[in-house]
Amino acid sequence: SRGATRPLASQGVAPTPPVRRPRLTVLSGPSGVGKSTVVAHLRTVYPEVWLSVSATTRKPRPGEQHGVQYFFVDDDEFDKLVANGELLEWAEFAGNRYGTPRRAVLDKLSAGEPVLLEIDLQGARLVRESMPDAHLVFLAPPSWDELVRRLTGRGTESAEVIERRLAAARIELAAESEFDQTLVNTSVEDVAHELLALMEIV
Ligand code: 5GP
Repeated sequence: SRGATRPLASQGVAPTPPVRRPRLTVLSGPSGVGKSTVVAHLRTVYPEVWLSVSATTRKPRPGEQHGVQYFFVDDDEFDKLVANGELLEWAEFAGNRYGTPRRAVLDKLSAGEPVLLEIDLQGARLVRESMPDAHLVFLAPPSWDELVRRLTGRGTESAEVIERRLAAARIELAAESEFDQTLVNTSVEDVAHELLALMEIV
């Protein structure tokens, strides 16, 4: 034996610093609060930040590209992702399914890179269960009126879809207390910067 029973210090070996797990940050909050705007801003200003790209059965909105905002899949493809255990979490939201591809997230985290997920509240709860170390951030609107304005102002959704999203938002607002931290979306730039800071990127 090479002195395995001697204290490490007497062998001149520096104590190992505590291992800091790379951070999985989950950005959630009511629909229309501006989560995707914050993420789009991050993408432009800090392209080096890796953002998980979700799979969804929703149809692309104008300007959305496959593999950038989402992987747009049909119901059968989504069923297969679920059946094969390829999703870290998934949820149904306003009539469509959305899920986080597991492999890419775990690969990034094991490579030591921080990961940001932008997902709905149900998904955030599932991540909390499966990855208790995840840091859950609630993006809150400056006010309810502002949230309604944003939800109705997008102009790409039918009245029925907007009504469903408002109903979901009312429930989602009440979930703030389940989160580790709240960021109020007064400015996209500020929120993006605060997110980067808590991911320890800036
Ligand atoms: P949108 O259709 O407006 O892009 O997204 C609708 C909702 O789905 C948003 O609240 C968004 O955060 C959420 N979402 C997007 N991707 C995922 C995902 O992978 N999992 C879950 N649970 N929600 C997601």
